[in-house]
Amino acid sequence: MTVQMVSSFAKGAWVAPTSGARNIASAITGDVIASAGNDTLDVQGMLAFAREVGGANLRRMTFHDRARMLKALALHLNAHRDVLYAASFDTGATQADHLIDIDGGIGTMMVFASKGRKEMPDAQIYVDGEIEQLSRNGSFLGQHICTPLQGVAVHINAFNFPVWGMLEKLAPTLLAGVPAIVKPATSSCYVTELAVKIMVDSNILPDGALQLVSGGLGDMLDHLTCQDAVAFTGSAVTALKLRSNPLILGNSVRFTSEADSLNASILGPDALPGTPEFDLFIKEVSREMTTKAGQKCTAIRRIIAPEAATQAVIDALSARLVKVKIGDPRLDTTRMGALVSAGQKRDVLEKAALLGREAERVFGNPEDFAVDGADADKGAFVPPMLFHCSDPDTAVHVHDSEAFGPVSTLMGYRDLDHAIALANRGQGSLVASVITHDTDVALNVVQGAGAFHGRLYINNRDSMAESTGHGSPLPHMVHGGPGRAGGGEELGGIRAVKHFMQRTAIQGSPDVLTKITGQWVPGATEHSVGAHPFTRKFGDLAVGETLNSAQRIVTLDDIEHFANFTGDTFYAHMDDAAAKRNPFFPGRVAHGYLLLSFAAGLFVEPNEGPVLANTGLDGLRFMKPVSAGDAIKVRLTVKKKTKRNDEYGEVRWHVTLTNQDDDQVAEYELLTMVAF
Ligand code: NDP
Repeated sequence: MTVQMVSSFAKGAWVAPTSGARNIASAITGDVIASAGNDTLDVQGMLAFAREVGGANLRRMTFHDRARMLKALALHLNAHRDVLYAASFDTGATQADHLIDIDGGIGTMMVFASKGRKEMPDAQIYVDGEIEQLSRNGSFLGQHICTPLQGVAVHINAFNFPVWGMLEKLAPTLLAGVPAIVKPATSSCYVTELAVKIMVDSNILPDGALQLVSGGLGDMLDHLTCQDAVAFTGSAVTALKLRSNPLILGNSVRFTSEADSLNASILGPDALPGTPEFDLFIKEVSREMTTKAGQKCTAIRRIIAPEAATQAVIDALSARLVKVKIGDPRLDTTRMGALVSAGQKRDVLEKAALLGREAERVFGNPEDFAVDGADADKGAFVPPMLFHCSDPDTAVHVHDSEAFGPVSTLMGYRDLDHAIALANRGQGSLVASVITHDTDVALNVVQGAGAFHGRLYINNRDSMAESTGHGSPLPHMVHGGPGRAGGGEELGGIRAVKHFMQRTAIQGSPDVLTKITGQWVPGATEHSVGAHPFTRKFGDLAVGETLNSAQRIVTLDDIEHFANFTGDTFYAHMDDAAAKRNPFFPGRVAHGYLLLSFAAGLFVEPNEGPVLANTGLDGLRFMKPVSAGDAIKVRLTVKKKTKRNDEYGEVRWHVTLTNQDDDQVAEYELLTMVAF
């Protein structure tokens, strides 16, 4: 059998393993299939190449350029899924597991590609939040912005998700404009290497944006600066060791960690046997125990059920687990493959023995189980094991020792407060779930347990058909948790991108802020080119371009006409005496929606032109009532432009309505699609 030499990708070239390389065995046969590691790798040169070449290349692009790049990468990887599947079986993973790792990773990259274009500007500076008024007259304002770190992100990943683990960190990093050096766990790095090869060969990434270390990192972490970031997934022991590096502490290098946690799932007090929730609970727990042979950072390690229901849970779970066929993951009939390595098998069995001191094993026997199509002694196979802990209050290991395999402990609770207390005994987890059809139970769990868990997953008969699963981290939602879970945070939409950028508070005049943010700020210079802005194409319109309309007097006839036409005969528009009794109004007033309609009539350019559609209106405020006899006028200013495609883009207009005394009566932002 040939042994695959797993290379690193350093400074734009592939570097084969040399001295110091480690052998990697197949999880199924135990045979050595690959070798990785190179202790002569120029890690300082890699850091410099990333910072000087990769960072500069990425920062020249806008967020939209980088989002399009992610989309192209994801599509390219998608077209090469089959070779990734084929390479992944030796990690012990089944085809269903590959869908989580490979398709899940590609899907995550796609979501960041889409969010990058929808939620970030086609620019190099990200505007974070709203303008802050720092002065009485608005001549001095504040705005938070984010710019990419000018260093490199070092990603240290776990063995269980060689593709998803890389892509879920890489997508937000590249979108931020920061180059990455990826270091996968050695035991499954041959899959990551293949994914990196596919991406590099696509020529989609600029030079220096992505490098790979297969094997040890050498002393790379000793050369990081305040512009670098480390994102780690793995064991709590390694996380502590790496984050305690004096240089990382001394230079305040960003270090996020996602470590092992003892995630819990609570069966609600209402969800007793016979309810759809009970069946759902059993399904979720057995799936979490056996997917990826339980090697999931989000897997359910502690099953918390009403004391009266524990025997029913044992019976129902056992009935499902007994059907899980264990074997060579290449077989169609196999439902659970192997652990990643003999080392992990040893570790899982040791931890299971530790749990056995406090809990009784009620399902699964590691000494006696069937394995299809492979040798149980040579491969890293273990059966699903269910423990029952009858005294979870005094037990310790069940709350702090993670057997990173298909192992879970059931514990009974007396009441909901007890269930919450048990869930929190994990001292911080990535996710906890509660299966309940009682919204009071859901609220109590969130109030009692939210602070201990990065994600709370609540499921019941109403949501189960479309729910995403206790164990699935989603690109849209935060992944990470306090305490034992590492104290870090990944994913969560654009939040993840900000982890690789510096947030800076900018203070200055409206013109200064307009220039920096690319968004017109009230008080900044307004321009007019003479032509009506609705006659101007997307590319010609400038931020700050303004239309000041003529005046229109609002009459009592207008108010009555509008009321009768629309049916909005609310007393404040119809009955002077009643309106006067209302503290907000001086008497009968015009409808707010009448003012909006008049505004549209005042600023419109009726002829066919580049404005294609009005797609919305944001942040509408009515500031002062308008009575019959008042005169209103409109100011319409281009606040922000966002290209959507080659045919049109979105123009966000800042609109103010003022009265005859120049007092603002209404303000909003109008969204239009404008042709190029
Ligand atoms: P480790 O913490 O040993 O490894 C995680 C990553 O850190 C790997 O890429 C590893 O590389 C790297 N690493 C280890 N030591 C160093 C170092 N000194 N400098 C730089 N990088 C280093 O975890 P394991 O993969 O061995 O798994 C052990 C346990 O961790 C599991 O049994 C489980 O309990 C937990 N775990 C938790 C995960 C989670 O998602 N929260 C995922 C996987 C594991 P290398 O492989 O080359 O040593």
